[in-house]
Amino acid sequence: IKIKIVDIPVPITIGPAFEGETIRKKDAHVEFGGGRSTSFELVRMCEADEVEDGKIEVIGPEIDEMPEGSVFPLGIMIDVYGRKMQEDFEGVLERRIHYFVNYGEGLWHVAQRNMMWVRIGKNAKELGFKIKDIGEILIAKFKSDYPAIIDRVQVTLVTDKDIIEEKIKLAMAKYSARDARLKGLTDEAVETWYTCTLCQSFAPNHVCIVTPEHVGLCGAVSWLDAKASNEITPTGPNQPVLKGECIDPVKGQWQNLNDFFYTGSNRTIEKVNFYTMMEDPMTSCGCFEAIMAILPLCNGVMVTTREHTGDTPCGMTFSGLAGTCGGGVQTPGFMGLGRRYLCSAKFIPADGGLGRVVWMPKELKEFLGQDLIDAAVAAGLGADFVDKIADETVGTDEEAILPFLEEKQHPALAMDPMM
Ligand code: SF4
Ligand code: ZN
Repeated sequence: IKIKIVDIPVPITIGPAFEGETIRKKDAHVEFGGGRSTSFELVRMCEADEVEDGKIEVIGPEIDEMPEGSVFPLGIMIDVYGRKMQEDFEGVLERRIHYFVNYGEGLWHVAQRNMMWVRIGKNAKELGFKIKDIGEILIAKFKSDYPAIIDRVQVTLVTDKDIIEEKIKLAMAKYSARDARLKGLTDEAVETWYTCTLCQSFAPNHVCIVTPEHVGLCGAVSWLDAKASNEITPTGPNQPVLKGECIDPVKGQWQNLNDFFYTGSNRTIEKVNFYTMMEDPMTSCGCFEAIMAILPLCNGVMVTTREHTGDTPCGMTFSGLAGTCGGGVQTPGFMGLGRRYLCSAKFIPADGGLGRVVWMPKELKEFLGQDLIDAAVAAGLGADFVDKIADETVGTDEEAILPFLEEKQHPALAMDPMM
């Protein structure tokens, strides 16, 4: 049986107006994920008999059992059945969780997959908001926004610290399977790239161009996702762009993409180079997983992540950098990026590629793990290249890391000057 939802039965107001709302730590009743606890979100395509439409289950403590200021794990599992549903759509629907949760007044959501980070404000708690209500919002929004592909949907919210460690394995397996489907696809192999303008609600002039080798800078929209999203909603935020005439193959500039950018950015951006961060680079919105910045003294670039709150060699923390280069403007020398873009063969190739990276937090090295080593080998930098990249244990200013880079004979030191 299909349930028709007319109103969302939750005690808080829901609407796009609250999308940009931030909830500071001191205003949060409870927070989940963001490196502080295990978290994940997962949309799975299921068989009809596996999904009980409208069902919401909370496995673990409800909000009343969570003391003010506490941190709990959170797994959001959304099971979907639909006759027209496809496995390729899972990632697209999963990205919508970010927007739908942020529609709630007193709710805050950033990042995605097993990086996601959620806060529930004291104001929402006082109004009687429950963990279960996250499910109410998601079910209502998924059913109203995607009636063509979703017939049934159920939500499981896991807040138990033991059970989540089991459930996250399902999610990790799904994420790797999705990433594996992209491997082998190159920017040249396809004529059509996709745009993403989902973030224009935050950054009105921002456009992401998503290519097989360049994931959206939120890390959550791959070329396959953008393609699937366009199939679901042909007039939606992901539009195909035929690259057309190439203006600069090295810096990566195409006429059709420039034209799209000009219109898509409300006529604020005239040209974009996809393969360099130094001249007319892609714009950055606000939800990038990581930011890179030029380090002139080291003749290289550094990358820092949302998870790394500490200082970095460019003199700014992640949030300082985010304030400098976010908001949908082009900032040469700075660029937001999805973590996995570092392992791409098209990682700033015009600037020297991966060999330019001289600093990143330990956490990012560990997160990318073998994939980063494989990328270094593929780029001809050798398997020990990752050990030549400095991190916060080496230092957090340029003067401190330079001797380390010299000792390790980091390849960036022998490259052409960046500026
Ligand atoms: Fe789309 Fe880019 Fe925003 Fe990701 S960061 S949702 S790819 S516009
Ligand atoms: Zn964004």
